Amino acid sequence: MPSNPDFLDRRYFFDDGLRFACQRCGACCGGAPGLVWVGGREAAAIADFMHCPSAAAAEFFIPRGQGFAVREYSDGRCWFYEQGCRIYPLRPMQCRIYPFWLVHLRSEESWQAAARQCPGIGQGRLYTRAEILDFVALDRRLCQLADFIPYPA
Ligand code: SF4
Repeated sequence: MPSNPDFLDRRYFFDDGLRFACQRCGACCGGAPGLVWVGGREAAAIADFMHCPSAAAAEFFIPRGQGFAVREYSDGRCWFYEQGCRIYPLRPMQCRIYPFWLVHLRSEESWQAAARQCPGIGQGRLYTRAEILDFVALDRRLCQLADFIPYPA
């Protein structure tokens, strides 16, 4: 995956675009433990949306990198998932760009593996290569802010 501006000139398996439409099944909100990162402003807005004083927002978040990780239940379910996302209008940017994460776009095999978990992959509208590369760039930035390495070096 891209590590410098030359990545724009490369060929990718998604050069013709990828289809995705969320089916709201919630599969990505649970399962194996993961990391959903939010910046300070996102965390404050979510705490406000949940009518929680920001001083008490530790109920929802754990400090991580230059922001916070959303807490999970022991089974990996997101802290905000309860028969649907409780913060959907303010869901974190990382959730908004799912499944167009770097870790899923490293190769066609990675994307197919993601598709086995996410029934929305392959459905709905076609996202263009340019849109996907924008998501990748954003995900790279979020991973940096979260001190997270999305794949082995
Ligand atoms: S797993 Fe895919 S289809 Fe299901 S809620 Fe998540 S993004 Fe939507």
